[in-house]
Amino acid sequence: MERSFAKEVQSLKLGEGETFEGEGILAVTKAALQAGVSYVGGYQGSPVSHLVDVLSEAKEIMDEYGVHLEICANEAGAAAMLGASINYPIRGLVTWKSVVGTNVASDALSNLGSVGVIGGAVAVIGEDYGEGASIIQERSHAFAMKSSIWLMDPRPNLTTMVDTVEKAFELSEASNAPVMVMLRILACHVQGRFTARDNKMPKISRRNKLQTPDHNLMRIALPPNTYAQEKNKFEHRMPAAKRFIVEHGLNETFDGDMEDVGIITQGGLYNTVIRALDRVGLADLYGTSRVPIHVLNVTYPLVDEQLAEFCAGKKHVLVVEEGHPEYIEEHINSALRKADIQAVVHGKNVLPMAGQYTAEVVQTGVAKWVELVAPEGADTDRAGAVPEEMFTIKGKAVGHLGSPVPPRPPTFCTGCPERPVFSAIKLMERELGPTHISCDIGCHTFSALAPFNLGNTVLGYGLGLASSTGIAPSFGKRVISVMGDGGFWHNGMTTGVASSIFNKDDSVLIVMKNGYTSATGWQFLPSSPNKGNFEDSKMSIERALRTLGVKWQRKVRTYDVSKMVKTLKEAMTTAQAGLKVIIAESECMLAKQRRVKAERAERLKAGKRDVRPRFGIDDDVCTGDHSCIRLSGCPSLTIKPSTDMLRTDPKAHVNQGCVGCGLCGEVSHAAILCPSFYKADIVSNPSKFELWLSGIRQKVITAWLTPEAVRLNGVHEGEAAEPADAQKAA
Ligand code: SF4
Ligand code: SF4
Repeated sequence: MERSFAKEVQSLKLGEGETFEGEGILAVTKAALQAGVSYVGGYQGSPVSHLVDVLSEAKEIMDEYGVHLEICANEAGAAAMLGASINYPIRGLVTWKSVVGTNVASDALSNLGSVGVIGGAVAVIGEDYGEGASIIQERSHAFAMKSSIWLMDPRPNLTTMVDTVEKAFELSEASNAPVMVMLRILACHVQGRFTARDNKMPKISRRNKLQTPDHNLMRIALPPNTYAQEKNKFEHRMPAAKRFIVEHGLNETFDGDMEDVGIITQGGLYNTVIRALDRVGLADLYGTSRVPIHVLNVTYPLVDEQLAEFCAGKKHVLVVEEGHPEYIEEHINSALRKADIQAVVHGKNVLPMAGQYTAEVVQTGVAKWVELVAPEGADTDRAGAVPEEMFTIKGKAVGHLGSPVPPRPPTFCTGCPERPVFSAIKLMERELGPTHISCDIGCHTFSALAPFNLGNTVLGYGLGLASSTGIAPSFGKRVISVMGDGGFWHNGMTTGVASSIFNKDDSVLIVMKNGYTSATGWQFLPSSPNKGNFEDSKMSIERALRTLGVKWQRKVRTYDVSKMVKTLKEAMTTAQAGLKVIIAESECMLAKQRRVKAERAERLKAGKRDVRPRFGIDDDVCTGDHSCIRLSGCPSLTIKPSTDMLRTDPKAHVNQGCVGCGLCGEVSHAAILCPSFYKADIVSNPSKFELWLSGIRQKVITAWLTPEAVRLNGVHEGEAAEPADAQKAA
């Protein structure tokens, strides 16, 4: 996995009164243990990938309590796990990325929401919304409302987050309904501390097993029971939830002396609101606000009486609700009208309808509101100056930098094994012409960006092949679809491959087999390699494809660009009908580097010989046409000024980040580019013979060439700085 929590998970053992320090996501796991959870599970995805990693690393601690951990095949599987709490008083916590994961999970969630639960059932969903998000911008709130699942959105500090998760189990049991705890990106990674409580041994667990199954038709979503379940949601569960919310003070009210105004905010935005009020002189950074604030740590259901009580006697209330549509603002408007409370409700009139409520956005919105409603005692001039101040600060930053920071689009990592596949597609298209490419979610989505610009659609995780089936029959050429190995196991095997074989579709599928769900921090898959060895995988994609009936199947090492081009051409032109699958296999470079770096450090520590490959470009040969860059896009392949008066275009240059994946050489060869690339092996702790040979080479080079020519002939600054290394041009 991307990050090890081996050390941090030890804090999950802390007991009553001890201080827990760490990251939000770790605190959530501790809260689950304190709540006496019996089972946990999830599917990785930002911003809760680390929660899945923490759960995996805490397996031993979980085992002590008999807690079962399930790394699920997808979010639907994780949501379905909560079925354990339908029949039995057993607590479970699952997690996934939202909103996309909630889409996948929604079948199970609908069933769960209909029949309800008797044990605490909690889903921690990472709300991947806003400027740091990697997915479609939608709110999870709609899912909560449609399935009658309660939604909590705690203030982003560790004490509140931990209390919220523990209370979520109680709320779930008190109202017989599942609960979602929504954590924004910043909340997942917030650092802080809280006073720990003892972990609780679950009443039912792997250590204390149930003996008798419960069979109750009311716990199955089948008519006519579904009609009764629907009534039960609103006659029993929702009133019970509202009672619990009020009795346990889940929503918080912070008083202030400006009683004729107030702010109602989603819990997750509380810190941002306080900062905004501080900027207009109405709060301090420790949270003391002159404007009364009602914090919705539970955003669904809303309690009308609580809202009416807060707004009674106020002239103006600002609702801070991120995203579209404004469910909360509309609800408050309706609740106040029904209660005949005349406070004017503001919200989307001063804050944007959509997009992340960053500090800048909320500061501008709050300042506008203060100016607009002019609460008694507020400095409206100061509020009016806020947007201008922020503009000035930004201007100063640009002034320091000299110019705005250029946009830096995301791309594949240096040496990524997926990049060569897209280089090969570009080369294939030179001969056969362009075709439609249905891309997929994963690192390969970057293929849609420069320099490849390949990928016409992206419809969802594992849906590359499925999304090609509508267009393929109407396209004048075979279409290509792309799917990762993560997407294959998530659903692509059935929605894509099985369906395609069943329907006798004729197209080309590339399965990117890099070994992990790399885009989420490389969590393991059923087909993950064992220490880089794919032959040692637990399950085989190739076997699965054969079993499903794929007749045309080829496996190609991704870095072998020539072979990949040849295989692609064959797949595109063969007379054989049906699905043609190319398994593009090579380990994720990020995962590989983390493994080989540790191995290398051990070798160096033991004084053993180590060889690192690097690629370089001979300045004397490079013409500066940069076709290598257009076919690769590796971040290590860059440009530098030309020192040649007759060739003034910048030269291509390989920087020190090169991991020696070999793509540069392969592309030059496959595209018949130019002979300017060379490979060098950097040898640490060389043998006596290598040292002697290196010495001779250096002497010959320095005797024949000027110092500048020596530098240009492959002895790069960073490499020469390593005294134990000997350069060996290969
Ligand atoms: S994480 Fe792995 S697969 Fe993804 S871009 Fe980086 S090297 Fe490529
Ligand atoms: S060999 Fe080329 S493509 Fe591979 S890491 Fe080095 S610069 Fe990047």
